[in-house]
Amino acid sequence: MTDIKSLNRAELTEFILEKGEKKYRSDQLFSWMHRALADSPEKMSNIPGSLKRIIREETEYTSLRAVDVQTSKEDGTQKFLFALGDGNVIESVLMRYRDWDSVCISSQVGCGMGCRFCASTLDGCVRSLKPSEMLDQVYSIIRITGRSISNIVIMGSGEPLANYDSLLRFIEIINDEKGLNIGERHITVSTCGLVPEIRRLADEKLKIGLAISLHAPNDKKRKELMPVAERYSIEELMDAVRYYFDRTGRRITFEYALTKGFNDLNEDALELSSLLRGLNCHVNLIPVNPVRERGLKPSTDRAVEAFKTKLEKNGINVTIRREMGRDIDGACGQLRRKHLEDVLNV
Ligand code: SAH
Repeated sequence: MTDIKSLNRAELTEFILEKGEKKYRSDQLFSWMHRALADSPEKMSNIPGSLKRIIREETEYTSLRAVDVQTSKEDGTQKFLFALGDGNVIESVLMRYRDWDSVCISSQVGCGMGCRFCASTLDGCVRSLKPSEMLDQVYSIIRITGRSISNIVIMGSGEPLANYDSLLRFIEIINDEKGLNIGERHITVSTCGLVPEIRRLADEKLKIGLAISLHAPNDKKRKELMPVAERYSIEELMDAVRYYFDRTGRRITFEYALTKGFNDLNEDALELSSLLRGLNCHVNLIPVNPVRERGLKPSTDRAVEAFKTKLEKNGINVTIRREMGRDIDGACGQLRRKHLEDVLNV
């Protein structure tokens, strides 16, 4: 079975010709899938019955089923729990900002990276998502809400750089002028810091944004939070990040989740400042979102402010990330976790 929504335009044309259909059908079909966002081939009014039958019988036409939608009363953030064709569930989020809407998608079912503060990784990585399943998250949200989406962040469950080929295909298709045509500059990939893949991504010469989940100012503390720190030192990570900036010209974002008394101290802010000095970057501070199984405490508002001020005094660009959707299990993997618990009754 061909996963038809994961094909790029050239591959789709090849597929169409192989099946003895006319070449121009390829662009029609691509538009139905990736611009009109048809959730089934039956909706494709100008596609002949013969081709619809081929799609039905010889391809897998993925679509997601919304199992749960939660809307934040605080800020309108919507969190979607979607069931995939095989019954696995994933989360995606629609964030509404003043001037644009942004969708945060998952790249894997669960995650294998083992970060200590994160709910997505509690049961490991079940499997990686196909490009079609990443696209379907955006398409379903547009169909359900009627919003037009201008930004995509790949910051949901999963490690996108551990699903590299699908990630690149996703970007190619969502960026296609005959699809949603979302510009590379409006796409951000967040990684826990897989160094070889960051370098590889830099060489693709895409203009996509890169966010690094740093969360600690030195290797010792980082290792306590993130197993990936055992594989790559912060020094290696920073070299790769500088390489990414040199190749793409894109300013790097660092994510830093503040945990009370652990990485929110004055000395942490100083160490982080000297680590990032001279780098064209931006730091996003977020008080760690407490996950029941994890037992980490968020920093107080005062500590967050003090940390921010310290970085600013040292010339580092910094914002406190608005915590969106805190009232709706906003943190990575929490909604899926709750769903699994309900289903399994644990
Ligand atoms: N694997 C990728 C992308 C998914 S995680 C990565 O590590 O970047 C998305 C972001 O949410 C990461 O910065 C991650 O560290 C952060 N995150 C996960 N759980 C969190 C929590 N409980 N509180 C605050 N941030 C969290």
